[in-house]
Amino acid sequence: MTSGRPTPGGQGLTEVRLLVMLYAACSDSGLDPDLWFPVSQDPATARREAAAALMLCAACVVRTHCLELALRHWPAGQHGIWGGTLPSERQALRERLTAHARQADHLVPRVPGF
Ligand code: SF4
Repeated sequence: MTSGRPTPGGQGLTEVRLLVMLYAACSDSGLDPDLWFPVSQDPATARREAAAALMLCAACVVRTHCLELALRHWPAGQHGIWGGTLPSERQALRERLTAHARQADHLVPRVPGF
């Protein structure tokens, strides 16, 4: 973190959570927390409902960490806006990551005993 801004990658879940808690733009925005929970299932409508929250997310220095936290802590991360993404967008990302991990797991030979 040489620039004073947190950089993504390599942190444990506890550190990621701490960075989000410390630097979250939404924590002291004064905006209604309900803005982070659009009710529509239609992505375009949900984006309109959450427009103010998504604008804040776009400028948030821990946006990547926030998204990572949602993906790694799915019971909470499946709901609302995290890292500037809708739940349906994170679900699609999660499915792609799972498919990629399965493919990588299949390609990398396993060493017996590990
Ligand atoms: S990316 Fe959005 S939801 Fe996540 S901490 Fe930043 S402002 Fe809050």
